[in-house]
Amino acid sequence: MRFCVIISATALADFAFCPRLFYIKHILKIFKSSKKLREGILAHRGTEEVKAVLRIKGVEIRGRADFVKEDRVIELKLSTPSFWISHVTQASVYARALGKEKLEVTYKGLGLKLIGKPVKVERVAEELVEACRTGRFPKNLKHCSLCYYRDVCRVVE
Ligand code: SF4
Repeated sequence: MRFCVIISATALADFAFCPRLFYIKHILKIFKSSKKLREGILAHRGTEEVKAVLRIKGVEIRGRADFVKEDRVIELKLSTPSFWISHVTQASVYARALGKEKLEVTYKGLGLKLIGKPVKVERVAEELVEACRTGRFPKNLKHCSLCYYRDVCRVVE
């Protein structure tokens, strides 16, 4: 199969959260810096950063897992489980790419862990390809109250 779209696991995770967010960040290349983001970069110092590549549905998804253990991949997050759909999508890409049965998302500072099996990401990959083909990136209004890009979204067509 020919892989026509190469994206990062975080880009796929953004698309799973909201296609319009993917458009803002990964097509228009508008990135908002924040204290949380800078803290997140610092928090990831010392992680293993294991390279992971998953090829599905004409999409090559690339990224680096924070830690890889015998049975699972572990992702560190400074945000909250409110963003679980992004976090589980990203960790599932790594788990499936690296052949692991489990994923773990550790919410650093909250003392919380989300542990489960990797989910299928084929449907979201297919939707991403279709969105790129048609140029339509619909809004997911369910997630707007959590979104850091609300101000950008209001002014982007
Ligand atoms: S404000 Fe809502 S529609 Fe706009 S990018 Fe964020 S989640 Fe998507």
